[in-house]
Amino acid sequence: MKPHERTEKCKEVFSLLSDYLDLELPADACQEIEAHIAGCPPCIEFAESLRKTVELCRHYQPAKLPEPIGKQAREQLLNAYGKILSERETAP
Ligand SMILES: [Zn+2]
Repeated sequence: MKPHERTEKCKEVFSLLSDYLDLELPADACQEIEAHIAGCPPCIEFAESLRKTVELCRHYQPAKLPEPIGKQAREQLLNAYGKILSERETAP
C-alpha cells in the first residue's frame, strides 16, 4: 500500500471513528477499523490513546454500554488524531 493510499484509508477510518466515538457503529465496522489499525503505524499510535474505546468496541453490547464518551473528551481525541495524521503527511 502506498503512503498516500494509507493516509486516505486513515481518513476513512477517522470518519468511521466519529461514529465509533458516538457509539453508533455496528460490530462489523468496528472490525474494519481494527483491521486497518493493525497494519497502520499512525493508526496504531492513535489506537494507543483510544485503547479504552477500542476495548469498548470489542465488547460492543448496546444494552450494556458504559457511559458515553463526553463531548470534550471526544473533541480531544479527534484533535489528537488529526494532529498525528498531519504530522505523518508532512514528514519526509
Ligand atoms: Zn491508518
